[in-house]
Amino acid sequence: MEYFRQFLRLKGRCLVCGEAPKTVPGLCNSCDQKIQRIERPCYQCGEPMHFNPSSHKCGRCQSSPPAFDHSVSPLLYSDPLRQLHLNFKFHQDLAAGNLLANLLYDSLSHSNAMPQLLVPIPLHAERMRERGFDQALEIAKVLARRLQIPFHSGLLVRKNCTQPQSGLSRAQRHKNLRNAFTLTQPLPVKHVALVDDIMTTGSTFNAAAQLMKTAGVKTVEVWAVGRSTRDE
Ligand SMILES: [Zn+2]
Ligand SMILES: [Zn+2]
Repeated sequence: MEYFRQFLRLKGRCLVCGEAPKTVPGLCNSCDQKIQRIERPCYQCGEPMHFNPSSHKCGRCQSSPPAFDHSVSPLLYSDPLRQLHLNFKFHQDLAAGNLLANLLYDSLSHSNAMPQLLVPIPLHAERMRERGFDQALEIAKVLARRLQIPFHSGLLVRKNCTQPQSGLSRAQRHKNLRNAFTLTQPLPVKHVALVDDIMTTGSTFNAAAQLMKTAGVKTVEVWAVGRSTRDE
């Protein structure tokens, strides 16, 4: 399978279906159009807003806002995005990872003030050992290069081995992740973007953002390629 993908890449074909790429580097027109963009995302949490399109924040963020100030998570986690993400995460398909990072890059509002530092959400040390590959870090690297913003991968670390988030409610996820992270050194900046591959409830981002705020960061953005309603 890896050889097949490598072959397609060399032939300049779409990373999803094998057709020739046209509009987006790595994707043909048809696959590009199948990627679902989130319409009217809440400025703060990034979830699609169905009931309050006149405000830039959803009802939940108005009543109990998360610790982060702004989310960019533009795509819905469905095929073909899902397929690209699984190739990236489990088969270390860096061309797919590069494409995912570029899709996120294209959704950033370049008129807003950019963060001073990108901080990837770290994997558990054990998972890193098992997999030998950190997808959030790979995405942060591409964004840092394109945006000319530094990234720091050793700043935020996982403190204890939290239980898997699968099957937990929103409240249980928050509890599970409390104290999940620690900072290895003081933060020299006031505006940070946390970077991950896929965002689900935002509990992981929230825990990391809380820590950043406690450490004196004024503005915390969270950036992920897509949103899933499923497990992290
Ligand atoms: Zn295609
Ligand atoms: Zn919201």
